[in-house]
Amino acid sequence: MLIDAHVHLQEPVLLDRLSEVMGTCRQEGVRLMLCNGTKPSDWADVAAISSRFPEVLPCFAVHPWYVAEAGELWEVELRDFLSRYPSAVGECGIDRWIEPRDEALQERIFRRHLQIAAELERPCMVHCLRGWGWLMDILTSEEKLPPAMLIHSYGGSLELIEPLRKMNAYFSFAGSIFESKREKLREAAKAVPLDRLLVETDAPALTPPEERRRYQVVTPEGEVQNHPGNLPLVYHGLAELLGMEASDLEQQVEANARGFLGDLFDARR
Ligand SMILES: [Zn+2]
Repeated sequence: MLIDAHVHLQEPVLLDRLSEVMGTCRQEGVRLMLCNGTKPSDWADVAAISSRFPEVLPCFAVHPWYVAEAGELWEVELRDFLSRYPSAVGECGIDRWIEPRDEALQERIFRRHLQIAAELERPCMVHCLRGWGWLMDILTSEEKLPPAMLIHSYGGSLELIEPLRKMNAYFSFAGSIFESKREKLREAAKAVPLDRLLVETDAPALTPPEERRRYQVVTPEGEVQNHPGNLPLVYHGLAELLGMEASDLEQQVEANARGFLGDLFDARR
């Protein structure tokens, strides 16, 4: 059972051809997909996709790139979506790469997501780009953390893996780690305890290099983007990297997803 721990099926480049995209994913053996909302205006699409495709688990949150457009009522709306669907909190977090940015607002909104996920006992999908010390400060100063967190597309140091693990974090990696210059990410993937490893595409983002890509989608502007049907190639590449049989990795990741999602794992099947 292949599980995509982080994907954005609501992005127009995928949503515009969703029947075809999901048909390909089913053919490729993808059985569970964690579809992450990024702002209040895309949550209804995420919910509708999950109603149409039972293998899609909806996740709702405000991504750090969109905190400025979250509006006054985002928290009320978020609680409403979380109460109406078996769902996780995601994707939220912090980002020191995006320009311009309001770091105080990012932190305030991220902390609220952590608190809501902890209160409602939902797993939480975390985005962190160029802000690892900041992330650790936030996580260690929160009184209560969500029951489990997924640090998606993990790009932190090897030293942070253990303290994050102790906070019930899981770590996922996408096909972009196979770009030749991404040695650091491959080292991190090898250092993550096997029982905390998950696999993602982050499609339509994080397009893998050509030799690790079977499918792609193209935007109206002609930009090549990632297709979630590439998931088996990420599993295979990771298994190769870890010196494991792909089928063993598949079983291990399924057990990890159960641990990460708890009751939600069976909610979608
Ligand atoms: Zn994402």
